[in-house]
Amino acid sequence: MKSISEISFNSKKVFIRVDFNVPFNDSGEITDSSRIIAALPTIEYVLSNGGACILASHLGRPVGKNPELSLKKIIPELKKLLRKDVMFLEDSIGVKTKETCSNLKNGQIVLLENLRFYEEETKADIDFAKELSSLADIYINDAYGTTHREHASTATIAQFFGEKAPGMLLEKEIESLKKLMENPKKPVTAIIGGAKVSSKISVIANIMGFVDNLIIGGGMAYTFIKNNGGRIGDSIFEADRIKDCGEILSKAKQKNVNVFLPEDVLCSNEFSDSGLQKVTDVYEVPDGWQGLDIGPKTAYKFEQVIQGSSTILWNGPMGVFEKPSFEKGTKSVADAVVKATQNGAYSMIGGGDSVAAIKKFNIQDDVSFISTGGGAMLESLEGKLLPGIKALSQ
Ligand code: AMP
Repeated sequence: MKSISEISFNSKKVFIRVDFNVPFNDSGEITDSSRIIAALPTIEYVLSNGGACILASHLGRPVGKNPELSLKKIIPELKKLLRKDVMFLEDSIGVKTKETCSNLKNGQIVLLENLRFYEEETKADIDFAKELSSLADIYINDAYGTTHREHASTATIAQFFGEKAPGMLLEKEIESLKKLMENPKKPVTAIIGGAKVSSKISVIANIMGFVDNLIIGGGMAYTFIKNNGGRIGDSIFEADRIKDCGEILSKAKQKNVNVFLPEDVLCSNEFSDSGLQKVTDVYEVPDGWQGLDIGPKTAYKFEQVIQGSSTILWNGPMGVFEKPSFEKGTKSVADAVVKATQNGAYSMIGGGDSVAAIKKFNIQDDVSFISTGGGAMLESLEGKLLPGIKALSQ
């Protein structure tokens, strides 16, 4: 795979697949511009090296051409952040789009309309991909969050370009996954949490190939505790995954991976901040009560393991961190990750909710790398070669 630094952009038109799928509030204002900000270095790199940018993205999941999901809505924010003019094209293909793109001058930027206005995009349609490719000389993919999707603009399109590479954001994502999965500095600790074990079983099974310690917290821990014969009261668990948890634990033993499950939990008789609360042994949660955070003994244990690690992967909160009563466990893990990072560990955080937690505790700048891809990161950790990344190497 080529690096963006090996490509000459001078007088070239560059198709950049970005991820501008940003959230909006009811008044139509962008509530989080992180994804736009994350794409700026690649855009600026291409411009400063004499190229013109054709930016393309999806927004939401439109059925047909839904004006509510027009990318025109992000133009003011994009202009403000880039401090440059950006031309909006009402269509991503067609005669007018082609004409405008072929007349683009070095340093100019256009944004195409939402690619998903055409169902051909998600169907990975070859003719649609070919038409998109005819707009530019070079293909850059900087949308890590969609690299696990085999779509026209993320995968199919790449075959029509001689010059193609990951953008600076995607390159960083690929590098940090390599740092974690190939030759990581040991000991390696994975902290896996969140509500459901089913969404992360394949990840846990695969990372066992390179981790030394596996910390399991959050709602998913209760399916493991149930497998071990514990009484979990009304805590969340998945009956059809108990066997998988048993298999994970046996595999960990075979591979000499230390598994750390919660020992105590903070329970409540309601899924809210206003119910009764108490700390119990994780194997003794009474009926009518549910575990909503790890307890203090567990938090201390997890902190010790994290602080003794040289490489850390964190995906998923330790409890219902959105509610102030149940955020302590996730906060203590976050603090331990920060301390370990300050002491030289490499820490990588990914997955929507862990990133939300990191933002809530305002420690975004205190960890080594925050991945921008939820599903994409999970699939990479499952050991899959993602279609969007594979397409850049062919
Ligand atoms: P996931 O998307 O699988 O990473 O799950 C994240 C969600 O899991 C967050 O919204 C948390 O509130 C939720 N969660 C974490 N721990 C628990 C728990 N013990 N019981 C119920 N939900 C939980």
